[in-house]
Amino acid sequence: MAAGILRLMELRAGTGYDIHRLAPGRRLVLAGVEIPHPLGLAGHSDGDALAHAVIDALFGAGALADIGQRFPPDDARYKDADSMALLREARRLVGEAGWAPHNLDTTVVCERPRLAPYRDSMRQSLAGALGLPLGNVSVKAKTNEGLDAVGRGEAIAAHAIILIVASR
Ligand code: MG
Repeated sequence: MAAGILRLMELRAGTGYDIHRLAPGRRLVLAGVEIPHPLGLAGHSDGDALAHAVIDALFGAGALADIGQRFPPDDARYKDADSMALLREARRLVGEAGWAPHNLDTTVVCERPRLAPYRDSMRQSLAGALGLPLGNVSVKAKTNEGLDAVGRGEAIAAHAIILIVASR
């Protein structure tokens, strides 16, 4: 019994980071939520930098390599891929390795558009993909104060940290 409780308390943390360029003729999708904007995120997949940061945090926590190794960008299967489907697959792989997400915190760095109106939709989307209650999922948004490529509105970056617990 005591050993079982200790096993359940086994925790790991993982961090993830991603950045994608903004480009014309692309949709702007963050955590699977489409946000109206003249520019979207460039990439082989749908360019969802927030989903990608969360996927890398999950793989990092599970010590299961990274998104580039698991879902190679030169693999035609991932062209225009729905990154939230990749996130659900990442969660499945982490689950197979004996872990379950506990809570997620993220930060999106974006000069424009303003993301606050979409924050709760992004939280709900991530919570659904990870099988977490909404209260365990955080999405924070900030600007880069006009500094560097993100600050010039040329790219959007995302950071994530996730805690996972032993599930068996
Ligand atoms: Mg990416």
